[in-house]
Amino acid sequence: TSTPLLELDGLVVEVERAGVAPAAALDGLSLTLAPGEMLGLVGESGAGKSLAGAALLGLLPTGACQTGGEIRFEGRRIDTLAPSALQRLRGRRLGAIFQDPSAALDPLRRVGAQLVETLQVHHRLDRRQAQARALVLLDEVGLPSPRTLLDRHPHQLSGGQRQRVVIALALAGEPALLVADEPTTALDVMLQAQVTALLRRLCRRRGTAVLLITHDLGVVAETCDRVAVLHAGRLVEHGPVEAVLRAPAHPYTRALLACTPTLDAAASGLPRLRIEGLMPRPHERPAGCAFHPRCAQAVARCRTESPPAPPPVLPSGQAGAACWLAPVAEAPEGQA
Ligand code: SF4
Ligand code: MG
Repeated sequence: TSTPLLELDGLVVEVERAGVAPAAALDGLSLTLAPGEMLGLVGESGAGKSLAGAALLGLLPTGACQTGGEIRFEGRRIDTLAPSALQRLRGRRLGAIFQDPSAALDPLRRVGAQLVETLQVHHRLDRRQAQARALVLLDEVGLPSPRTLLDRHPHQLSGGQRQRVVIALALAGEPALLVADEPTTALDVMLQAQVTALLRRLCRRRGTAVLLITHDLGVVAETCDRVAVLHAGRLVEHGPVEAVLRAPAHPYTRALLACTPTLDAAASGLPRLRIEGLMPRPHERPAGCAFHPRCAQAVARCRTESPPAPPPVLPSGQAGAACWLAPVAEAPEGQA
């Protein structure tokens, strides 16, 4: 197997809360991503998935701090880079898209000027060349009459158009890895499906790897090659999308799947089902398997002993889960 594009190796991120000791919101997360691969990182809100994306982008929020593990990208450690070096990497080899397009778009500047500038930063292009490239990009992200769009300000676009411009901006630097954190959650259901399909098409064509962070297993099923399920800061299951969704081995994955509406149900505006009970917060992690208070299958051992995480690299086609009742996943020969 080739060198992974991205390796999270035992990543620990602690969060502060007034009056108590810092607690691990990500607790030893190990994951790998191959070049061009699309990995869905799923879990309910509070599972730590956004923190994982922020940690690798060097954008952890105030009060959160990496206290363990390593992050390697293209074979070298990036969690120890100076902020300026990491910033250079971002937008170039490492792209990012967030739920809120205003994080990426300057409201006071025309869409064209922002795209042209980004293109000029990343490629040695003169203004005219960058403008021509901007038109191609806007066309590629499915925006009609790109020429007119260049002169618009972000607020003159619809939500769907804005998110397409954000995708164009994120891809302008031809990143090797795109971190997309709930990129379509702010859009209505039909638009979500379109923008997700667009993202997949563009990244496939370019060979761009994607870490897609979402609470929605349905989006992962439509988009990703592999899925990693996070619960309370730990990896509870991962594997190829078909394998995990066909036969989820972890009760938490099964519960998430049971709460995933079909596209028709989502479009009809029915309220989403929720898994009963709450995800424990970092400071309140129960002993044993953190899912045990919500797990119908829990046995005595689950209350005292935490099941080990599945190995980050599994034999081809296989999934692995951190559950005492799931089959034990073996690392392939020659891998630790
Ligand atoms: Fe449920 Fe026990 Fe498996 Fe945890 S280890 S998911 S409590 S059966
Ligand atoms: Mg989030």
